[in-house]
Amino acid sequence: MLFGGKRTACPESRLALVNRTMAVSISFILRQYYPSPVSGITPSTGIMRDERDKLSELVGNAERIVVFSGAGISTESGIPDFRGPGGVWTKFNPNDFSIQNFMASPEHRKRYWIRSSEMYAQIVASRPNAAHHAVARLEEVGKLGAVITQNVDGLHQQAGNSKDKVIELHGTTREIGCLSCDYRVQRDIFQPRVQPDGTAPDCEICGGLLKPATISFGQALLEDELTRAAWETENCDLFLIVGSSLVVFPAAGFPALAISRGIKLAIVNLQETPHDADAAAVVRAQAGEVLPPIVESLMPVAPLPS
Ligand SMILES: [Zn+2]
Repeated sequence: MLFGGKRTACPESRLALVNRTMAVSISFILRQYYPSPVSGITPSTGIMRDERDKLSELVGNAERIVVFSGAGISTESGIPDFRGPGGVWTKFNPNDFSIQNFMASPEHRKRYWIRSSEMYAQIVASRPNAAHHAVARLEEVGKLGAVITQNVDGLHQQAGNSKDKVIELHGTTREIGCLSCDYRVQRDIFQPRVQPDGTAPDCEICGGLLKPATISFGQALLEDELTRAAWETENCDLFLIVGSSLVVFPAAGFPALAISRGIKLAIVNLQETPHDADAAAVVRAQAGEVLPPIVESLMPVAPLPS
């Protein structure tokens, strides 16, 4: 099953997508070990300039863009890539912080809350960067279908994207939810009630366990978000990947879905991705440097905040 969790039967088109995505991933892994003599785009050459021009033209001509963002866009705001090299999840065993362990014992929950509180402190100290503002500007000029994000930091909304335009595949660290009922509370209100030893209050409605509204290891992704993200992907005319290397599911699934529908792909990412060869433009540079001049040329009004 493509997206895991307790889903209904997988439609055939999605199964085809899984097969294609696996094939792409395998070819990507092979290329890591057996790189071709000329692989990818060399920065600081004319080739890169051409790719930026191509991206600018694609954005200019598009009427409904889906921005697919990953950790790369938030590292420019100083938020570490928690799952990337050197990230917090490389220093700890992720299984210790799985949903199963969270539910299993108060000790696990305390450890979870201590770790989660550290990450939350980094997130609240951060601000949207030029790339987030550029994405918000796409909505302002009427070109944005949706932002599908793997990030849990809420920085797209802070930059000005409306809540209903942002689909958070991995949930949000800005809210706390009950695992037994629908109770939700803003984290900035709740966080002061978490004790330094990691003890957190239970749900005031039903007494159930409260947890940040992020998707933990071992926890199913949210079906509504996946359905909306698939619809937006199938109904855009440009799928713009920003700061994602597309190697983690379900990240790899959405570009493959776009390709299967004949939708153009563009990629702004520092590293190579398995879909570079499928993209109409690939710019390997910081999104905060690449995107602002492109969106500013769409609507020459006030300069974007930096
Ligand atoms: Zn509850």
